[in-house]
Amino acid sequence: MKLKDSRLLRQQAYVDGRWTDAASGETFAVLNPATGEELAQVPLMVETDAERAVDLAESAFHQWKKTTAKERAEILRRWHALVLDNADDLALLMTLEQGKPLAEAKGEVIYAASFIEWFAEEGKRAYGEIVPTHKSDARILVSREPVGVVAAITPWNFPAAMITRKAAPALAAGCTFVCKPAEDTPLSALALAELAERAGVPAGVFNILTGNPKALGSVLTGSAKVRKLSFTGSTGVGKLLMAQCADTVKRLSLELGGNAPFIVFDDADLERALDGAMASKYRNTGQTCVCTNRFLVQDGIYDRFVEGLAQRVSQLKVGSGVEEGVQQGPLINQAAVDKIQFHIDDAVAKGAEVVCGGKPHALGRTWFEPTVLKNMTTDMCVATDETFGPLAPVFRFKDEAEALEMANATEYGLAAYFYSRDLGRCWRVAEGLEYGMVGINEGVISTELAPFGGIKASGLGREGAQQGLDEYLECKYMLMGGI
Ligand code: ADP
Repeated sequence: MKLKDSRLLRQQAYVDGRWTDAASGETFAVLNPATGEELAQVPLMVETDAERAVDLAESAFHQWKKTTAKERAEILRRWHALVLDNADDLALLMTLEQGKPLAEAKGEVIYAASFIEWFAEEGKRAYGEIVPTHKSDARILVSREPVGVVAAITPWNFPAAMITRKAAPALAAGCTFVCKPAEDTPLSALALAELAERAGVPAGVFNILTGNPKALGSVLTGSAKVRKLSFTGSTGVGKLLMAQCADTVKRLSLELGGNAPFIVFDDADLERALDGAMASKYRNTGQTCVCTNRFLVQDGIYDRFVEGLAQRVSQLKVGSGVEEGVQQGPLINQAAVDKIQFHIDDAVAKGAEVVCGGKPHALGRTWFEPTVLKNMTTDMCVATDETFGPLAPVFRFKDEAEALEMANATEYGLAAYFYSRDLGRCWRVAEGLEYGMVGINEGVISTELAPFGGIKASGLGREGAQQGLDEYLECKYMLMGGI
């Protein structure tokens, strides 16, 4: 691994401003999904390690919450600059542990940094209110205060951005932060900690624990000292963590699974829709929660759309993320390969036709051929289950009402996309979609400026934007009488 700054490869956890081993001394290996090679060993932490980190984050909170928003902003701005200065190294680390093409990894580092910049600025605007009074000798004030110690549990598909999207608003609000990154991708998290330390984030304010998910998760959800959990991951684990948080009635932000529809109407700009489709489906090799899961295409444009999509998909360059020009890296693990294969086999058994791809890639390991399926029906598993891989199933519909009914026939409600050039239809469909985010003639919608999040089984709360700061603030009402 050729990092410009070798100190960004950390093999210890980061607790209370110190690089720390597990109390047991045990470690586990971080592997490169493209080669199977061992990249590093990191601490295998368990309950006692997490309890210690939470105690120290709680002590740090009493100091950190007293700093001014401007002081916190200065530290966050330095962190932002350091992340950008080290973007090449952070991107390489990410590609090695996660598999995404280097250009995408660099894009994620810049996206991750954008949250730090945004919340450095936004933290200064956590205004309170003076509310018109109900008694002439009393005044009503509403202030906003940091929630307290925040725990975060983050996924492997965006090893940096899913951390900064939570940590930056938490720190800007005056909270302290204990994060357990995914066991597949702890190195990006630890590199962020190294840069946070260089930026002057005080000891105990930003902590990274590596180790056993269940053991660490039980403390982060069960401890009364942790006042909020922010989780990004699967709906199943999200529900479990939500239940575990019930005992201590924690604040919750949950960013869970999706089943994004991508609707193409007859009146769409076909080329634009195909560009959007490729970006929305094949980004990160289909492994994002806002990736399109189902293409819903109107009768009149169906055949041309399938043909255009298959043509583009068959040209995708598949390979190791560190190779020049590669657009599709390996999947994260064998379970991911099994899931996409299962969705294809199930669909084909029920009458779908493979237009391109359809099987594991000749490169072996966890590479899979980017795939397009047509003649889909709603009884196929992929209609209701998230694939999280490079599979584009194309369903057919007749009219707007049917498109909306199909799009909303899911327990999920994260992102949806549609393409149309009819203004009235754009309003009707945007309003009819039961989703937290809607891309209208756009296939990629994530930005730190807009509230990211879902409804229904896709989660609670929003990340980024002004709303993203609210998640880390409590409001306090004060009635001052006897005036
Ligand atoms: P995925 O299926 O994409 O891997 P998961 O929901 O399993 O998504 O993982 C997201 C995060 O949740 C990871 O950091 C993982 O370690 C963590 N996680 C998984 N199971 C548990 C658990 N029982 N308790 C706490 N954290 C968990």
